[in-house]
Amino acid sequence: MNLAVIGGGYAGLAAATTLAAQHIPVTVFESAQQLGGRARGVWHKQTQLDNGQHILLGCYRHTLQLIAQTGGNIQADFLRLPLQLTLHNIFELKAARLPAPLHLLLGILTAQGLSFGARLQAIRFMQAMRRSRFQLAQDMTALALLKEHKQGELVRLLWEPLCISALNTPLAQASAQVLLNVMRDSLNGSRADSDMLLPRVNLSALFPDRAAAYIKRHGGSVFTSCVVEALIPQADAIEVVSARGTYRFSHVICAAAPAAAARLLRPIPQFSILAEQIATLPQQPIYTVYLQYPQTVRLPHPMLGLHDCVSQWLFDKGQLAGQHGLIAAVISAQGIHQDLTHEQLAHKVTREIHMQLGIAAIPLWHQVIAEKRATFSCESDLVRPTYLTPLANVLLAGDYTAGDYPATLEGAVISGIRCAKRITGDLS
Ligand SMILES: Cc1cc2nc3c(=O)[nH]c(=O)nc-3n(C[C@H](O)[C@H](O)[C@H](O)COP(=O)(O)OP(=O)(O)OC[C@H]3O[C@@H](n4cnc5c(N)ncnc54)[C@H](O)[C@@H]3O)c2cc1C
Repeated sequence: MNLAVIGGGYAGLAAATTLAAQHIPVTVFESAQQLGGRARGVWHKQTQLDNGQHILLGCYRHTLQLIAQTGGNIQADFLRLPLQLTLHNIFELKAARLPAPLHLLLGILTAQGLSFGARLQAIRFMQAMRRSRFQLAQDMTALALLKEHKQGELVRLLWEPLCISALNTPLAQASAQVLLNVMRDSLNGSRADSDMLLPRVNLSALFPDRAAAYIKRHGGSVFTSCVVEALIPQADAIEVVSARGTYRFSHVICAAAPAAAARLLRPIPQFSILAEQIATLPQQPIYTVYLQYPQTVRLPHPMLGLHDCVSQWLFDKGQLAGQHGLIAAVISAQGIHQDLTHEQLAHKVTREIHMQLGIAAIPLWHQVIAEKRATFSCESDLVRPTYLTPLANVLLAGDYTAGDYPATLEGAVISGIRCAKRITGDLS
């Protein structure tokens, strides 16, 4: 058995690490110069940035376990905060330091900016979801579910910011079931499951670079700047045509993002329907606006939401990673910001920070990173392809493949591990 993994993002590297741990020969092909895919470190003017600020949750067990397995130190690599949602001057919810589910119930009861009636409605909703084990008989939009449970003012203060950041999809389209899956695992488990983990190291260093070193130590290979141009199924193998030459493998895990996976699969007759399904998955953008202020500038919290602004969440990279004065503004999902030039968007975010927080300093530089196909749009009743394909020795990994989670690092990692286990026979 020898395996090729196409794509050195979190899904591909999770698959390769799991295989390498069992001493199965594995070769990773990554088209970019660096590993990480949609979660990667980026340099700008000698400053280390990420392509987008990522948040992990305490319940992301598979990702955290693999980071630790490949040499990470979860305590040092992350700033761990109890679940808190702060919309500047409007709303604040902080999980209490109590065992679950009291941490959340008390958090809701003591939240600032909510009427008494809204607090009760939030608790009733959580209790109703708990009773139904966070399972709907039929998927619907998150907005429809929240209306059914009379969430009123909670919709814009609590659920909309939560849904946009978790699913990267507007409430009116978002899958209520996937939102409930995230709530089940993060809010209904132990208190630690709901913790927010903000990386202190860049996203390539956090797992992909460590995974590559681990894979090599266990006898595997990782090729960067090595695009896979074609897959050619043979009677007893798959040929992988890459920038470094053509190789034969017993199995291939295709862990490229949807557009690239569809391009690779489309020319193979058995894959034409699957390729079409992958290519037509709806996508959503995420924009990150980095503003480098003078080093003395800091936010009141490491992470802060803005209400009724284009900027949805602000991250203080000084408090997170010692990059003083560097603020990252995150704008998830589709919106009017897509009509602005990067210059106009940076100007707008600077103005919002001035108006909302009184920070009048002028940024020394700005950098906008627009990930136009950041994630699939996690819509209600969306049919996602499974990891199995018409050929038994070609499997699909990636955040977009069918699973409980929206497009997240954990969803990507779980999909990679699933493929590896299928191949090693641990999964029936
Ligand atoms: C801005 C932004 C913010 C996000 N925020 C969060 C967050 O807060 N929390 C969270 O959990 N998730 C977040 N996500 C989602 C998360 O980043 C993705 O779900 C995850 O990185 C997807 O990993 P993947 O391995 O499935 O795909 P990818 O990361 O896209 O990896 C695919 C890899 O395949 C390579 N490739 C493609 N074609 C070929 C080819 N022909 N040959 C060789 N290699 C190829 C690509 O270069 C890429 O490296 C965010 C995403 C973005 C973009």
